[in-house]
Amino acid sequence: MRPDHLRALERAHARSVAFQESLPERPQHVTATLSELREAIGGPTPEAGSPSDEVIDRLADAVEPGLMGMAGPRFFGWVIGASHPAGIAADWLTSAWGQNAGLYTVTPAAAVVEEVAAGWLLDILQLQPECSVGFVTGATLANFTCLAAARGEILRQAGWDVEADGLFGAPPVHVYVGRDAHTTVFSALQYLGMGRERVIAIGTDDEGRMDAEALDIAMARHGGPAIVVTQAGQINTGAFDPVGVVSDIAHRHGAWVHVDGAFGLWARACPARAHLAEGVDSADSWATDGHKWLQTPYDCGYAIVRHPEAHRRAMAIGASYLQTAAGGAFEPRDYVPELSRRARGFATWAVLQALGREGIASLVDGHCTLAQRMAERLADEPGVRVVNRVELNQVIVQFGDGDPADRDAATDAVIAGVQREGACCLAGAEWHGQRVMRISVISWPTAEADIDLCAESILAAWRAVRG
Ligand SMILES: *Cc1c(COP(=O)(O)O)cnc(C)c1O
Repeated sequence: MRPDHLRALERAHARSVAFQESLPERPQHVTATLSELREAIGGPTPEAGSPSDEVIDRLADAVEPGLMGMAGPRFFGWVIGASHPAGIAADWLTSAWGQNAGLYTVTPAAAVVEEVAAGWLLDILQLQPECSVGFVTGATLANFTCLAAARGEILRQAGWDVEADGLFGAPPVHVYVGRDAHTTVFSALQYLGMGRERVIAIGTDDEGRMDAEALDIAMARHGGPAIVVTQAGQINTGAFDPVGVVSDIAHRHGAWVHVDGAFGLWARACPARAHLAEGVDSADSWATDGHKWLQTPYDCGYAIVRHPEAHRRAMAIGASYLQTAAGGAFEPRDYVPELSRRARGFATWAVLQALGREGIASLVDGHCTLAQRMAERLADEPGVRVVNRVELNQVIVQFGDGDPADRDAATDAVIAGVQREGACCLAGAEWHGQRVMRISVISWPTAEADIDLCAESILAAWRAVRG
């Protein structure tokens, strides 16, 4: 190997280790400004090349001040996992091996790794073993892939071949979505030609759970081909739609039921929390992430479909120069929108091995317990209100005792105070018309001491605001 190429790989290794080891101490929020980052990263278009090792050091020097502590122990800002070292290492190999994971015949090992990892995922998530699994970039594309399968199957039952003939002239399909669904569900509907705003929105309760009775009434009124989109794990509250009840209703009306379970689906991997996701297995498809609770590096999500034929009809890519595997091997390109892509199965396989079923269960259970600890610490303080029922990993909080506008202002001021102090990373959101602080506990390195430190930082910021 050329010496600078070899040194580039060594520098990447050294810089990775140094960054990871600095995570507990470095500010969890970014300190660099936009102009500082442009200055450090920019410059004229490179004309002559540079030695690869110098490029790697230049890259790391330039970007590190603009990186968030997402892989560290006190990142509570969004529902974001913290790349597990086994996954990182498998990901380095994935890049070094340079496999195009589109087809079995092109890279048999990558295809078989996905086949095996898919079986383990279904087992751990307690979903039917006959489901098909597509390895996509995240839950956004998993929602897209599953809803494409749903669209195709529902229209096929109505006598229409949407894969061949498209949506123009097709029978209308009603899509029912809870009011507190994740924004990427609407993105998926947008990409699929079903319209972000053409949905029939179903009311939700204080925790964001779909009102099953209202769904039943709406479905009876509208009739016709239908898809019902539910969720397991609301992005703010962590709450679950009553998927079992919803499935009974929706299936009675002949509809397909999809679950957006980007992180919440993993409650099924944990005996102590599985009751939260009861009935979720009665659906027809599920979207979930590897890069959230499973802690794989980016990017990694899974599109899981109970009807493999519908999944394949929606996604299969065919051409005469692309040979299909003989002997029933798993064909990665039949289950995802892309042909050429990263061999995502390697990192998934590695993290599933490194944690094991027991490790995943205790990770999920531990995060839920830590979220409860955080909620208790905060709720003890006058003027602090935990807004949601903390059963999963999500805590949303409001500050102040005044009128709604005062509370919104106080909440934003506390969030800004915590961000200035920098001991932990968290942010705000709007929940049912009010500003809330959001705390997501979902990183594998997070321990009790991190929760306590963060709670102290939040309470100190609140006391400063309260005066
Ligand atoms: C994160 C999330 C998504 C989107 O997943 P990506 O991995 O960002 O594509 C969808 N739905 C829910 C409930 C989520 O939490």
